[in-house]
Amino acid sequence: MSIKVCKFGGSSLADAAQVRKVRAIVAADPERRYVVPSAPGKRSDDDQKITDLLYLCHEHARQGVPFGEVFTIIRRRFLDIAGELGLGLDLAGELDRAEAGIAERAKAAHGPDYAASRGEYLNGRIIAEVLGCAFIDAAELIRFDANGRLDEQRSYAMIAQRLGGADRAVIPGFYGSGPDGEVITFSRGGSDVSGAIVARGVGAALYENWTDVPGLLMTDPRIVDDPLTIEVITYRELRELSYSGASVLHEDAVFPVRSAGIPVNIRSTDAPDHPGTRIVSMDDPEAETSHAITGIAGRRDFTIINVEKALMNTELGFGRRVLNVLEVNGISFEHMPSGIDTLGVVIKDANLEGKLKRVLAEIEAEVRPDKIDIDPDLALIATVGRGMSRRPGMAARLFSALGAAGVNIRMIDQGSSELNIIVGVNVDDFETAVRAIYHAFVE
Ligand code: ASP
Repeated sequence: MSIKVCKFGGSSLADAAQVRKVRAIVAADPERRYVVPSAPGKRSDDDQKITDLLYLCHEHARQGVPFGEVFTIIRRRFLDIAGELGLGLDLAGELDRAEAGIAERAKAAHGPDYAASRGEYLNGRIIAEVLGCAFIDAAELIRFDANGRLDEQRSYAMIAQRLGGADRAVIPGFYGSGPDGEVITFSRGGSDVSGAIVARGVGAALYENWTDVPGLLMTDPRIVDDPLTIEVITYRELRELSYSGASVLHEDAVFPVRSAGIPVNIRSTDAPDHPGTRIVSMDDPEAETSHAITGIAGRRDFTIINVEKALMNTELGFGRRVLNVLEVNGISFEHMPSGIDTLGVVIKDANLEGKLKRVLAEIEAEVRPDKIDIDPDLALIATVGRGMSRRPGMAARLFSALGAAGVNIRMIDQGSSELNIIVGVNVDDFETAVRAIYHAFVE
């Protein structure tokens, strides 16, 4: 029987009613053997996430301010969930230990990791009880080295060894431990990463990531009404879209499963019959597609620095010298559109903050251009799709849609993989452009 690892996000576990849905989802498929829960999230927009409250407890404790009142809110949340579900677990004892542990560590000048991890730990205890299976502490399985970096190989080995003997188990997300046994957390949203590591460690056939949306949308629903859900996306496309501004999985959640060729399925706890989005490798037969594009993402706030000089193409090292100025000023760039005697560098505004004047002066001194100017207020839009490659007419369709919508294109860049076409437009045209591209490819 193949194995599925299921990670459930905070909104999927925010209260007892959500936990019941999770129980039904896990019970519906015997292959769902390992479950990785987050801490309880928000029940409504004005609610608080348990993890945020735990960070607050640590901060109070660190400053020597009593945090009992904040911890009482946490305590009540967990006791309410356990009470409503009629669990016989000694949660009060666990909560006392967590509260004491937070105080102790703050006193010993430890960071917030232990405190932050208790949401997942306590929730893991609850979910294990609800599912009637073993609880295995992530601190025993997910290991970090002395520099605080994930020790991948050791973690996979520990997981294979410990979980190999457990038919079914709950492993809390978000944290592991260092060489001294102390808890270390991933960055925020890190239960996604834990789930991926467990999936890799047990050699899962599928990593299911259960959340509050039925998969990834083709584009931002704040710009396009009701965009379609992506059925299948490849890891490479996902990388392009998330880099270009789409908010998807935690960045680090992809590498453990990607390199092992384990597909990810993003599903909604509130719509368990919806197939969600599957993330697969390019060579997976599922990657075969008839859709020209997979998704559209974009970001605002870029500037182009334009450098012009006659016979630039004959001047050896011209480009290197321009880029060197950026490098010594610690500035990374996104694109480099160029003509015969012109060279442009597209840079995030945030990277140029406080440095623009100096950078222009240094480029001027370095390459003595005929002209150097800047073009601010640029937005970049990436249209991503494995279906575009080797298919004539894709760029024409995109550009005519933008032309028809009255959008002027200020920059074009197509990667040699033909996986994406990136256009730069004025920030004021950003939303019009995204809508035009979407409607050009999606009926
Ligand atoms: N609970 C943690 C956070 O809020 C980790 C997670 O939910 O993935 O960031």
